Amino acid sequence: MRDICQQFIDGHWRSSYGGRCLDVIDPYRETVIAKLTAGDARDVDASVRAARQALPAWRRLSGEARGQYLEGLADGLADQHTALCRTISLNGGKPLAESQLDVDDAIACYRYYAHLARQLDACQGEPSAQSVAGVEVRRYFDPVGVVGLITPWNFPLVTAAWKIAPALAAGCTVVFKPSEVVPVPEQAIADIAQTIDLPPGVLNLINGDGPSIGEALTQHTGVDKISFTGSNPTGESVMRAAATGVRNVSLELGGKSPIIVTEDADIAQAAYLVMNGIFANAGQICSATSRLLVHQAIAEDLYAALSQHIDALVMGDPLDEATTLGPLVSDKQRDAVSRYLAFAKDEGLIPVREASHREVPRQGFFVAPTVFRDVPVESRLWQEEIFGPVLCARQFASDDEAIAIANDSDFGLAASIVSGSHEKAADIARQLSAGSIWTNMDQLAPPQAAWGGGKKSGIGRELGPEGLSAYQELKQVMAPSR
Ligand code: NAD
Repeated sequence: MRDICQQFIDGHWRSSYGGRCLDVIDPYRETVIAKLTAGDARDVDASVRAARQALPAWRRLSGEARGQYLEGLADGLADQHTALCRTISLNGGKPLAESQLDVDDAIACYRYYAHLARQLDACQGEPSAQSVAGVEVRRYFDPVGVVGLITPWNFPLVTAAWKIAPALAAGCTVVFKPSEVVPVPEQAIADIAQTIDLPPGVLNLINGDGPSIGEALTQHTGVDKISFTGSNPTGESVMRAAATGVRNVSLELGGKSPIIVTEDADIAQAAYLVMNGIFANAGQICSATSRLLVHQAIAEDLYAALSQHIDALVMGDPLDEATTLGPLVSDKQRDAVSRYLAFAKDEGLIPVREASHREVPRQGFFVAPTVFRDVPVESRLWQEEIFGPVLCARQFASDDEAIAIANDSDFGLAASIVSGSHEKAADIARQLSAGSIWTNMDQLAPPQAAWGGGKKSGIGRELGPEGLSAYQELKQVMAPSR
C-alpha cells in the first residue's frame, strides 16, 4: 500500500496541508491500495505561487530547451513502461493490453510536443501572411501563463499528457490535479520531473478531490487558464469559476457517439469495430460509440455476430493477460451504470442477449456487457452518457435517416462509420456533427490530430497544433514598413 499524502510543489514532495485522507481502491480485488490526501486550498495556493515564480524563466527558455525536457519526460515514462501498465490496470481496472496503449500514447504525446516546441523558435516574429500596405506585421506566440490542468480517471497518464505536454511546450507553467479515483499512475510524472531536473515550479502536481483541490484551483485568480477534462456538471462549474477574472478555459466533456453501419458493410468488420467502440475500458470512454445505427437489411446478422463476440469476452483480473473486459472503476460507477439497466427494464428494452446469460465475476465492480436493440430515440439510454459496457442499437432504412438520428444528440464528440464504400463513408462523415470521425477503422487519437467536440462535448481542441495553440496567446507587433 502506498501513502500519497504529499504534494509535488516547487520541485519537491511536501506534506499536504490537508488532514483528510481518501481510500484508493483496486476495483477488481475491492481492496484499498493507497491512501490519498484529499488536499487543501493551501496546497493550491502554494503550487500556484511556485508556478508563477517559475514562469518568467521558463517562458524565456528556447523552444529547443523546453523540447529537451519534454523528451526527458517521455524517456522517463518509457523506462517505467511495464510497471506503469500494471499500476494503471491495478488502480483503474482496465486490461493490461489497454494500459499498454495508454502508456504508449502518453509517451508519443510528450515526444510530439517536444517536436512542436523545437519548431516554435523559428515561428517567433514571423511576418504575417496577410500583408497590410505600408505596415509590417510580425506574430509572436506567447504562453498563456500559469495553467491549471484537471483530469478524470479513465485514461491516466494520457489525458494528463494531452495537457501537460502542450502547456510546457508553449512556455506555460503547470498546476496539475489528477483524479482522486485513479491517482497512483499519475504520480510518476512528478517523480520523473524531479529526476530530469525540470526547473522547480514548472510542473506542480497536487492530489485531492473536487471539493478540496479542484474548486480551489479553478477559483484561484493566480491561474490564467483552466483546462478541464471530465463530466458535464463539473465542466459547467469550472466554466462558472473561470468567469471570475475572465480567465481562459478549455473543456473536454462527455459524449454519446454514434456508429453507423451501412447496408453494404462487412458484418465481421462491423462487429469487430462495434465491440471495440463500446467494450474497450468497459465502455468508460468519452468517445465510446454507444449508439449503434445499423441498416435494417443487415441488422439481424450484425446482432447475431455481436452476441457471439459478447460471449467470447473474458471478464476477470485486469492483470491477467487473458482478460478482455475488466471491472468498472468504482462501486459508484458500477451502481450508476446498473441504474441505467434498471431504467432499461422499466422501459421494456430488449437485449440481444439476456444479461443473465453470462456469469459476472463475484469479485470486482463488474457489469454484464449488454446490447439493447430497437431502442426508441426517446429512451434515456439512447440519449444519456452511460459510461459503461452498455450499447443501444436501432435500425435505419436510409443513410439520410441514419445521419439525422446520429446528429439528434446533445453531444458532438465522435462518430464511426462502417461501410463497404469508402466514398459513401466519407460522404456521411461530412454530414455528421462530431469532432473526430473514424471510417472503417478503430478509434485512433494520435497526438498529431486534433481532439475535441462541439455541442455539450466541450469547448476547444486538444492534440495537434491546435492543442498547442490552446496554451498560447497570439501577439501581433506592427511597425511602419522599412
Ligand atoms: P468528474 O467531472 O467527476 O471529475 C473530473 C475531475 O474533476 C477529477 O479530477 C475531479 O476530482 C475534478 N473535480 C470534481 N469536482 C470538481 C469541481 N467542482 N471543480 C474542479 N474540479 C473538480 O469526471 P470523471 O467521473 O472523473 O470522468 C468521467 C467523465 O469525463 C465522463 O463524462 C467522460 O465523458 C469525460 N471525459 C471526457 C473526455 C474528452 O476528451 N472529451 C476524455 C475523458 C473523459
